[in-house]
Amino acid sequence: MSDDIREDEIVTQEEHKDEHDDKNVDHYCYLCHRPESVVGKMIELPKGIHICIDCMQRTLDSMGNSNFSFIDASNMDLSHMDINSILNDMQESPKMQKVKKEKKKEKKEKKTIDLKTIPAPHVIKSMLDEYVIGQDYAKKVMSVAVYNHYKRVVTNTMDEIEIDKSNMLMIGPTGCGKTYLVKTLARLLDVPLAITDATSLTEAGYIGDDVESVLSKLLQAADNDVDEAEHGIIFIDEIDKIAKKQNTNSRDVSGESVQQGLLKLLEGAEVEVPVGATSKNAMVPLTTMNTRNILFICGGAFPNLEEIIKKRLMKQTSIGFRADLKDKFDNDDTILSQVTIDDLREYGMIPEFLGRLPMLFTLDSLTKEMLVDILKEPKNAILKQYQKLLELDEVQLVFDDSALEAIAEKAMERKTGARALRAIIEKFMLDIMFEIPKDESIGRVVINRDYIENHGTPLIELRNQ
Ligand code: ADP
Repeated sequence: MSDDIREDEIVTQEEHKDEHDDKNVDHYCYLCHRPESVVGKMIELPKGIHICIDCMQRTLDSMGNSNFSFIDASNMDLSHMDINSILNDMQESPKMQKVKKEKKKEKKEKKTIDLKTIPAPHVIKSMLDEYVIGQDYAKKVMSVAVYNHYKRVVTNTMDEIEIDKSNMLMIGPTGCGKTYLVKTLARLLDVPLAITDATSLTEAGYIGDDVESVLSKLLQAADNDVDEAEHGIIFIDEIDKIAKKQNTNSRDVSGESVQQGLLKLLEGAEVEVPVGATSKNAMVPLTTMNTRNILFICGGAFPNLEEIIKKRLMKQTSIGFRADLKDKFDNDDTILSQVTIDDLREYGMIPEFLGRLPMLFTLDSLTKEMLVDILKEPKNAILKQYQKLLELDEVQLVFDDSALEAIAEKAMERKTGARALRAIIEKFMLDIMFEIPKDESIGRVVINRDYIENHGTPLIELRNQ
């Protein structure tokens, strides 16, 4: 009965006829898109618009008219509702929905890689230069390897020419920029990236993550889009921690077995991957991923590797002058860059594993000058970030050269590479960030060595009135 009243009031004769034609069609709520079979009977409005009771109630509530809870599908009397404003509301929503859909599509299109959009190696390197200080050799090797990798992926020449995958193994002291390089690279190329710690991996069935978990992480990074994940980058850090354990009688579940487990992923295989979890069990859905086009980059500090290299070099040179040679090698900062596959084998990496990481290169330890540059040069340098923050308060922040050197010296003492810089700066910037906004007359703050070394204060200059 009430249905009739409603139709008389808001549905024109013609529209009603149309409606009649698709009587058997399941209608969808115009706002929440749920079907009639789920939300129950809906309110019909002109132009074939259907609204479920929940959305109608919400619309009314948002109009400040919250006392319509009596609405139910069997007794719908809309005579006292402001239909015009409801319709106005509805006219706006299609616009919003449309924009949203287009946006999503745009994002998808952007992510497909094609031959023309892959930047040439020198372009990749110059982009890396904007963020990463030094490490020229590593940047060069990575740019070429990444370029070749994606070129091969796009043209699908992998099987025809059988070029090896350009998986990489990078060796360098902690805090010298290994992870940062990979992160920057993935961001510039706009490909998904997963970063895993090799120490968390164990042989399947033992406590810890299975090796396949690295793929789950990548899938997550690609918003569960398998196609996209299959073109991504996986960075496995602390790879030296899965070296074969020396002199052990027990089963090596977190060392050699993990290397064995990673072999098939590195080479390219179809792998069943749990979606949204790091280990397979009955409760998680699985999907199949092909790792053929995934670029694997492994990184590690390999402590004591220098000793192995030195030992080899000493053996190679003729007998005699041993003491002289030892001194020479001990003082050689570039000893790590002379690493060979044999040294890594000696370290405990299995040959099959090394064979699947054809690009082997080392990163330099950071010098004081490099640390100073890291503070001020990169596009997102720490100093620039603080300067920007204070600029918002119209205060100019200046670090004089002696201050930067003092910070770099402190960082060198900690032996954690550039990682120490932020910790040091944050400690003494705290007071400045706390005090400056108190006094509006401050126009400029100059930080000097004395302040960094705790026997002075920063120079404060007042604003010109
Ligand atoms: P690791 O080599 O141990 O992976 P990271 O790459 O995580 O070290 O470096 C830690 C932080 O130090 C990075 O987030 C980055 O801000 C900074 N950093 C390290 N090396 C460099 C570098 N060469 N250029 C610029 N910033 C760097």
